[in-house]
Amino acid sequence: MRLAPFAAIVLTSALAGCGVAPDTREPAARAPTSGSGSANWERPQARQCVTELGRSGSQFAPLPDRMYGAGCSTLDSVQLDRVGGDLGPLTVTNLGPLACPLANDFAAWARYGVDRAARQILGSPLVRIETMGSYSCRNVAGTGRLSAHSRAEAVDIGAFLLADGRRISVRDGWNASAKEREFLRVVHRSACKRFGTVLGPDYNAAHHDHLHLEQGDGSFCR
Ligand SMILES: [Zn+2]
Repeated sequence: MRLAPFAAIVLTSALAGCGVAPDTREPAARAPTSGSGSANWERPQARQCVTELGRSGSQFAPLPDRMYGAGCSTLDSVQLDRVGGDLGPLTVTNLGPLACPLANDFAAWARYGVDRAARQILGSPLVRIETMGSYSCRNVAGTGRLSAHSRAEAVDIGAFLLADGRRISVRDGWNASAKEREFLRVVHRSACKRFGTVLGPDYNAAHHDHLHLEQGDGSFCR
């Protein structure tokens, strides 16, 4: 399995750089043993991306490239379990494959956009981000155009769990108390600085319960 040594190196550098508690799980064991492109991580650009992700304190496993037909694929993607925070690791739930550049943007947003906003506005650190998934072979709702989810280049965010036990969901918090409203709007705004496309409850009914964060150079923020 050619991925194994590299995945181990990535994890080691992540632990060395950020003091994240060692995890007994072997990350390489989670990578699929078959697939069309186990050599993808030997390309410099792909290696650089996972090296950067490791330095951020994230815990993840690089995945082989896979093509699913119908224009759907997961290339240079990772299985992301945790990202680094100022005070410790932040857990991320319900994620499938995530394109590595998107994972880097997500890790930075979680730490600098969400965790710090949670402490400043709500007075408690963030411990978990609950997603509603990343890769999905589907069209943009109501169109014949493939969604960025079909390339693992988008992630949907449903809720945030704080250290004091409060859970702020996009669905219930968007129009809840002043503090929750402010928190969700601040994390939405900070997402707009890091992602090409950000869609939330104010965009349309399809996004009433999540924030859609999409990789890219654009600046579509709704
Ligand atoms: Zn989405």
